[in-house]
Amino acid sequence: MLEIKDKTFVPFIGHETLQSRIAELAGQINQDYKGKQPLLVVVLNGAFLFAADLMKNLTIPCEITFIRVASYAKMASTGKVKEILGLQESVAGRDLIVIEDIVDTGLTLAQIKEQLQVLNPASVALATLLFKPEALIKELPLDYVGFKIENRFVVGYGLDYDGLGRNTKEIFVLKE
Ligand code: 5GP
Repeated sequence: MLEIKDKTFVPFIGHETLQSRIAELAGQINQDYKGKQPLLVVVLNGAFLFAADLMKNLTIPCEITFIRVASYAKMASTGKVKEILGLQESVAGRDLIVIEDIVDTGLTLAQIKEQLQVLNPASVALATLLFKPEALIKELPLDYVGFKIENRFVVGYGLDYDGLGRNTKEIFVLKE
């Protein structure tokens, strides 16, 4: 159990399950990008632990950079997705893999992909640890998906509730 402010969260995806699925995703990326040198574009803050564990399992040469977009206000989507902030690297001609913690409506990743494509990368792939298919309102081709989950609010392993709860090895779900 995890108590954050007025909410109670219960265990949902355990540490071992997360780690073995992430190793599988990394294996797919190692195969798909053989002979290439992708640039991982990590969406802060939520994806930082996922990105770290994924990258540890990559055996191809790769680089990493971090971007920021709009974040959630507590538990409801603001619906306002801002422009990409903090992109330092030149992405023209690069094979990009965007790393996100969770796809809910899909609006954030769709906007990120659109904005990155303007910068003429060689390719843009999308990787997300969690995906809530029921919440998706924007059709989005996801290349690497860790877990499809039901439309419930989750925290832990990088994901927060009002800034807290990121520092766990497992993922928790809001108790109903
Ligand atoms: P989308 O644009 O796909 O609706 O939202 C994606 C972003 O919403 C994620 O990067 C994450 O910050 C936030 N989000 C969506 N669902 C959840 C959830 O269940 N828990 C947490 N902590 N954040 C979520």
